[in-house]
Amino acid sequence: LRLLAAALLAAALPQSDDAVLRREAERLIAAYPDQLVAYRDGMIVWRDGTRMVFDDGKVKTHEEKLRHPDLEDQVSECYPKGPLAAPPGPGFEPGRVRYEPFFRKMYGGSSAEVRANLVRIRWAPSGEMLEVTRVNGVAEKLRAVGDALARDKAALPYVTASLGGTFNWRRIAGEDRLSAHSFGIAMDIDTRHSDYWRWQNSEKILPWRNRIPFAVVEAFEKAGFIWGGKWQRFDTMHFEYRPEVFCGE
Ligand SMILES: [Zn+2]
Repeated sequence: LRLLAAALLAAALPQSDDAVLRREAERLIAAYPDQLVAYRDGMIVWRDGTRMVFDDGKVKTHEEKLRHPDLEDQVSECYPKGPLAAPPGPGFEPGRVRYEPFFRKMYGGSSAEVRANLVRIRWAPSGEMLEVTRVNGVAEKLRAVGDALARDKAALPYVTASLGGTFNWRRIAGEDRLSAHSFGIAMDIDTRHSDYWRWQNSEKILPWRNRIPFAVVEAFEKAGFIWGGKWQRFDTMHFEYRPEVFCGE
């Protein structure tokens, strides 16, 4: 009976399915064509020959994925494009899982290394200059998002003043994981209209709240940026470049 239960459990888990793994690996490679070239012998192969294990074979909850991620965990949670039908439920945080060695190799492993890849772009809504990585064309993509938002009257009031910023080598508040801002791939829009999942020094997750119109979110999503408003631990001013988590479209 125990064997049968184990077999049933294994059958129910997509992690055990080679075809699913291959699909996920191919989605990751397709998202970063400048950097990744193949999935071979369970490894993601980089253009420079570096190999990274894709799947550690462990079955994890969302919280375990956050704390002990591998590359497979990073792409395993699909980010849905479009307006949210309902507030994000428990454990719904697509894109919040990041395998840090991947980002360190991609964008730089230290503040100085990331800085070496930063370029300045003009953010059209305010005319400010923002520092963003040029790796994967992120800077150009963000500039185009700004150009589109500058023409959108519904979106403009949320992306013009009190911008929260782009590059900042730092840990996520209350965690030892590096923030996506560390790699120059993230932007926080107008902080005055922003909502965040917790009060200072509390682990309690507040009820979901959002004041950012979908017109803003849509412009970022079209360019491969995900929105922190689609997480249970919401951060509605936050966007980051994560093309690998867009799936099922
Ligand atoms: Zn942010």
